[in-house]
Amino acid sequence: MARSQHIDSLNIVMAASEAVPYVKTGGLADVAGALPVELVKLGHTVTLIVPRYRSFQTDGRSLRELGSIRVRTAQGLVDATLEEDLIPVGVAGRSVRVVAVRYDPYFDRAGLYQGPDGDFSDNLARFAFFSRAIVETLAFLGSRRREPISILHLHDWQTALAAVYLKTTAHDRTSVGDVRVLLTLHNVGYQGIFPGSQFFETGLPSDLFTPAGLEFYGSVNLLKGGILFADKVSTVSPTYAKEIMSPDGGFGLEGVLAGRRDGVVGIINGIDVDCWDPETDSHLAANYSRTDLSGKAVCKKALQLELGLPNRDVPLIGVIGRLTSQKGFDLLAEIIPELMAVGVQIAILGTGDRILEDRFQSLKEQYAQQIGVSLKFDEGRAHRIEAGADMLVMPSRYEPCGLTQLYSLRYGTVPIVRKTGGLADTVIPYRPSTALAGHATGFQFEGVSADSLLATILLTLKVYADRGVWASIQQAGMGVDCSWECSANRYVEVYRKLSGER
Ligand code: ADP
Repeated sequence: MARSQHIDSLNIVMAASEAVPYVKTGGLADVAGALPVELVKLGHTVTLIVPRYRSFQTDGRSLRELGSIRVRTAQGLVDATLEEDLIPVGVAGRSVRVVAVRYDPYFDRAGLYQGPDGDFSDNLARFAFFSRAIVETLAFLGSRRREPISILHLHDWQTALAAVYLKTTAHDRTSVGDVRVLLTLHNVGYQGIFPGSQFFETGLPSDLFTPAGLEFYGSVNLLKGGILFADKVSTVSPTYAKEIMSPDGGFGLEGVLAGRRDGVVGIINGIDVDCWDPETDSHLAANYSRTDLSGKAVCKKALQLELGLPNRDVPLIGVIGRLTSQKGFDLLAEIIPELMAVGVQIAILGTGDRILEDRFQSLKEQYAQQIGVSLKFDEGRAHRIEAGADMLVMPSRYEPCGLTQLYSLRYGTVPIVRKTGGLADTVIPYRPSTALAGHATGFQFEGVSADSLLATILLTLKVYADRGVWASIQQAGMGVDCSWECSANRYVEVYRKLSGER
C-alpha cells in the first residue's frame, strides 16, 4: 500500500469489535467495513483494528505478521501479535490496512460476545484488553513505524475504554499524545455495563470509579467512559443524536450526553450501493431501474410464488428485521386482522423474541393465503422482499439509523416508518404537498400505537391506488443518494475540525 501522504490527507485509525468482510453480528460490522474503504477512496490513509476471533474470515489467505505489542492486563503484561491484511479499494494501488489483534486466550473461542450460556463472564477483561491493544497499536504505528496518527475513530462500548486510556494513563506518551478521538454510538441501548467489583480489570485509577467517571449506579459503564473522554461523540442520525439526550432515548446516559458542551453530531450511515442495486442484484428474478420498473412486477410475482402466496394483484407489504421490542413489530402483529380484512398480503422475514416469532407463525397459519413468514436469517430472501414488496413497514420504538428503509428506498419499495431516529431523517413523509412537489419518499406515523400504524397503512393503501402518485413516490425514493461517499465526507469534516482544534 502506498503510505505516502497527500498534503491534506488524514491518517486515521478506526477500531471496532467487528467489521465486514471478516466478522459480523450486526450493523456495526457494515459501518466498520464500509467507512474505511470510502475514506481511502477519498484519499485518506486508514488502518482498521479488529480482534482476531476464531471465526475471523480471511477466505483462506494467511495474514502477514506486522509485529507484536505488549499489553498490560490486571494479571500482568502479555504479548499480542498484530496481523496485517489489505483490502483493495478499487483505486490504483490503494487499500485499507487491517490490523487484527491476536491474543488467543480472549478471542480464540466460539462466539464474539456470547457463548451458549449467555454473555462471556470475562467480557470486561476482554474489551479492556482490546482497548489497551488499540492504544499500543497506535504507539506501535507512531514510534516503530513512524506513521503519526491524527484521528482515532472508536465505535461502541467495546472500544470506548481506548478513549479513557488515551486521555488518562497514556496521555503523556509522546507517540500517541496528539491523537484526537471520535467515538461513534451505534445504539445507546448497549453500553457495556459490568459489576463494580470488576472495575480493577480496567487497570484505571480508582478515582475514576465515581459517578463523575465510569461508575453507573454502582456498576462500571464502558460507554459512559468513552463519552466522557472522547474529543467528539457522534451517532448515526441527527434525530437519534437529539433523542439520546432525553430520558426516553438515553438509557440513563442522557445526562452525560447532554453534558457534553459540543453536543453530539449525527451522521447517517450509507449502504453498500453495489450489493443493494436493483439493476444488478443477482438474487432477483428480474432487474429493474428507476426509469424502467417493469422488472419489479416480475419480482413481486416471484416472491408470491416463493412464499406460497396466491398470485394476486393486491398490495404486498414487506417486513424484515430483528423481531424484538425495539423494532415495534408487536404493533404490526396487533393490527394483522384489520390488514387481512382489507385484503393485503404480508411477507415477514426475521428472527428474535420467541413470543413474537410464535405469534407471527400462528398468524401465518390463520391467514395462509395472505401471510408468508420466514423465521430465519436469509440474505437472498431479504433482497427478494425488498424488490418484490410494494411497501415496507418499520414501526421501530427507536432506530439509531436503520438500513432496511434505505434499501427499500433504493428498490422502489415505499417505506412506512415510525417517526424516530434515522427513520425520521431518511424518509420524507407523504403529504399532498410533498407528493405534489415530487419530494415524498414514504409514510411516517408518530406515537407508539398500533392505531396510528394502522391509520398510516390505510392511508398508504389509498395512495397506492393512485398509480401516478405512487410512481412519483417510488421515483423520489429511488433517486435518494444513500451511498457511503456522502457519509464519509461528513466524517471527514468532523475529523478535520477535530485535528484543527489541536
Ligand atoms: P439493526 O442493525 O438494528 O438490526 P438495521 O435496519 O440497521 O437494523 O440493519 C438490519 C440489517 O440486517 C439489514 O441489512 C437487514 O436486511 C438485515 N436483516 C435483519 N434480519 C434479517 C433476516 N432475518 N434475514 C436477512 N437479513 C436480515
